[in-house]
This record gives sequence, structure tokens and C-alpha cells, in this order.
Amino acid sequence: MTVANAIVVQNLTYSYGEGALRRPVLKGVDLTIKAGEIVIMTGPSGSGKTTLLTLIGALRAAQEGSVKVLGQELAGASQRQMIQTRLDIGYIFQQHNLLKSLTAAQNVAMSLELRDGLTTAQRRDMAHKILADVGLADHVDKVPAQLSGGQKQRVSVARALVAKPKLILADEPTASLDKVSGQEAVNILKKLAREQGTTILLVTHDYRIHDIADRVVELEDGIITPAKPA
Ligand code: ADP
Ligand code: MG
Repeated sequence: MTVANAIVVQNLTYSYGEGALRRPVLKGVDLTIKAGEIVIMTGPSGSGKTTLLTLIGALRAAQEGSVKVLGQELAGASQRQMIQTRLDIGYIFQQHNLLKSLTAAQNVAMSLELRDGLTTAQRRDMAHKILADVGLADHVDKVPAQLSGGQKQRVSVARALVAKPKLILADEPTASLDKVSGQEAVNILKKLAREQGTTILLVTHDYRIHDIADRVVELEDGIITPAKPA
């Protein structure tokens, strides 16, 4: 099923802590992202960007409000539904989170392991193809320690995209990269995502990559506002 909106967040609130220590982080977030849109989210450190991303990514249970992702309401969803939704999402984190003992191809193939009906050879072929797409055809058999920071993040991009997810969530993917590597990684991400019609929500402080987005929003004081011009 195709949905017009990939993400519809309505009046979402979220607090950490209990009782007197309870501290609200999200205070009524509203955010709608159309299918195929590329949206960047900025905002001060500690403003709740990662919290919001994990709620949208079905990695954390919503407390109050509504989070619809790819047509599925996640507020009050069962564990089974959360796991099902995660299969349609590709995640990219600030640190590449690759497994040190596995090659680039094995790291990418791993994210296909929960898919039914694929043989080991098919997973390997898909990993090799997507690694070629991110410019790493000659590096498929290297382990992370043999790759540069930018190359490692491109492996993460490949790992996030290999299962052709409908939605990519990226949390400060260029934070540990130099300017050129960071731009390369997100440009490849954008190109491949556009080809697949993938929706992207990308958190970043990095003004140099704002031009990949259709739209920039800001999370500040627990709510979403359109970003102020830089
Ligand atoms: P951002 O990604 O915008 O920097 P976060 O979502 O990581 O913000 O954090 C928002 C606020 O919630 C911060 O004040 C942070 O300290 C707090 N916070 C984040 N995770 C937890 C947690 N697991 N337990 C308690 N407080 C947390
Ligand atoms: Mg964060």
C-alpha cells in the first residue's frame, strides 16, 4: 500500500523520568512528511531530536499523542507491529555502528537477514550491488578498520538502503566526517533515495548539507517550527 504521507506526528509529547524528576522533552510536536520528501531537522543540542527520531523509528514507545509512520499508528502499537514497521525503515546513525569483525559486504548483508525468502547468495549479491552504487565496489571485502571515515559511512548508507526501505531516518550522519566526505555520503544517499522514491528525515547541525533537503524544520523548546533562514 502506498500512503500519501510517510510520517504524520500529531501533538506528540514525551518525558523522561518519573514523579518529581519527570522532565518533558517533546511538548506537542506536529510534523507531516509526504512520501518521497527529503526533510532536514535541526535544533539545539538536547532539544529532543534523537528522541523524536527514535519514536518515529519505532525504536521507543510513544507516551501521548499520535505517531503515524507509513500508515501505521505507533502510539499504543504492539511489539509485533513495531517490529513490522522497523522492517520498512533504514537507519543511519552518527557513528557508523558497523561490526568490526565483518567485511563491508557482510555488514550490509546482515540487514537482509530478517527478510524471508532470500538465499545467502542473493543477500551477498544485493550487498555487492548496493556497495557498488555507493562507490565501494573495490572495498566489499574490507573490514571497517581498513576503510576511511567517509567510506565507513557510505557502507552505513548502503546498509540502510539495501532492503529498499520506504523511509530513511538519519541522526547526524555527517557529524564525524570532514566536509567533503560528509557531502559525498549525503549526496549518494539523496541520489539513491530519489531513485527508489524513499522518504528521508535527517537530523543535522551541518548547514553545508541543507541543500539536499526539500524542506528544513527546527525542533526547539519541544515543538517544531519552520527553520529560520540561515
Ligand atoms: P538531541 O538529539 O536534540 O540532542 P535528545 O533527544 O538526545 O536531544 O535529548 C533530549 C533531552 O532528553 C536531553 O536533555 C537529554 O539529556 C534527555 N535524554 C535523552 N535520553 C534520555 C534518557 N534515556 N533518559 C533521560 N533523559 C534523556
Ligand atoms: Mg541527538
